[in-house]
Amino acid sequence: MSTTDNTLRVLVAGGGIAGNAVALQLLRAGMAVTVVERASAPRPGGQAVDLRGPSREVAERMGLMEGINKFLLHEKGMSLVKADGTPVYRMSMEMFDGKGPVADIEISRGDLNGVLLTELAGAGGELDYRYGDWIETIEQDAEGATVGFNSGRSERYDLVIGADGVHSRTRKMVFGPEEEFTTFLGGYMSFYTIPTPSDVEQDWMSMHVVPRASLGIRPDFDPATAKAIITLRTDADPALRRDITAQRKLIRDMLADAGWLVPEALEHLEATPDFYFDELVRVDMPTLSKGRVTLLGDSGFCGSPMTGMGTAMAIVGAYLLAGELAATPTDVEGALARYEAQVTPFLEKAKELPGGGIQMMLPTSKLGLTMMQQVGKLMTTKLFRPIMMKMLDQTQDYVLPTY
Ligand SMILES: Cc1cc2nc3c(=O)[nH]c(=O)nc-3n(C[C@H](O)[C@H](O)[C@H](O)COP(=O)(O)OP(=O)(O)OC[C@H]3O[C@@H](n4cnc5c(N)ncnc54)[C@H](O)[C@@H]3O)c2cc1C
Repeated sequence: MSTTDNTLRVLVAGGGIAGNAVALQLLRAGMAVTVVERASAPRPGGQAVDLRGPSREVAERMGLMEGINKFLLHEKGMSLVKADGTPVYRMSMEMFDGKGPVADIEISRGDLNGVLLTELAGAGGELDYRYGDWIETIEQDAEGATVGFNSGRSERYDLVIGADGVHSRTRKMVFGPEEEFTTFLGGYMSFYTIPTPSDVEQDWMSMHVVPRASLGIRPDFDPATAKAIITLRTDADPALRRDITAQRKLIRDMLADAGWLVPEALEHLEATPDFYFDELVRVDMPTLSKGRVTLLGDSGFCGSPMTGMGTAMAIVGAYLLAGELAATPTDVEGALARYEAQVTPFLEKAKELPGGGIQMMLPTSKLGLTMMQQVGKLMTTKLFRPIMMKMLDQTQDYVLPTY
């Protein structure tokens, strides 16, 4: 039921990067947009996200760069350190021309979400943004969907966009159980804010790896705080899903005796304001849309934080979805088919795990660790740098459509 012939009523489930980016573009295209975010306020947290190649181009085309520039991280590079803090090797930003482990545009996930929310607040148009609410039921017919919310409301939309993350409820309701679409990638990751340790190298991302686990410390925009990034290589344990105590215990157990700044980082596990812990999974959908429901971001195409491309996929996908809908608002099905056709080649590249995934990142033995360090050192040599850049920049050849 359109408000006018060309104005679609669109519901976006999830106020993360994907949901907010698509809401912004749809609003700018004159559509009536409702966003429901399950949390009671914007979710802070997340480490630096890279914008490179097509995702940087989208950020520019969406006019986000002025906001992003205010929160740029100016990271100088990545350094792998031993237990005593001395470097094994260093990969500076310049060494890889901004296309290495640290890109030239880096912003914390929470800050990028803040930039999108500021733009949304100033975009005008018909926006209904509701925190603390979520979809309970979706009933579709040929013209749209009637949606029942947890708040008790029932509303009619032309299109529902599930941008509710890797464990998407929208996906479960419309497409099927999570297990049908996810592949466990061999471990877990956690991100949280800590006070910046006094002996961490300023403006560098520092990483320390022990068998099966690693701790990274990455600068925040506020120099007083930093992000702890923990990666664990272990079997899947469904009991961990909602048990924060068990998640913290697993982190402590797997990083026991790791040395370096691990004890200092673990001291803040309980008190941190934004503890995030999730399994590493890949999401592959046979199709992104079913009738008037479509998926965007991690709900439809997650490669896991190991790809470093989650945010890139979310904003490129949002740009394409909104662009196609705006091009043919009277042909939603056609727009959804073109969205899928346009985004798929980008996803195929972005979901690839650079350097072989967790097996290469986190060896299980000391010998494996030594070999991994030697490979890392080799990558810093002039001869091998182009290989590293290619591994981290698989999407650079993707040609972004113009709307
Ligand atoms: C707090 C947080 C920290 C993160 N940190 C990192 C990081 O450091 N590195 C990294 O690579 N990736 C991180 N991620 C994942 C990263 O944000 C995504 O891979 C990427 O940005 C794509 O985002 P998305 O919007 O699809 O999903 P998400 O960022 O997961 O956003 C989904 C949103 O939907 C909301 N939601 C969930 N269920 C419902 C529901 N039923 N109804 C309504 N809303 C719902 C969630 O609260 C969330 O705000 C983080 C995600 C979150 C939520």
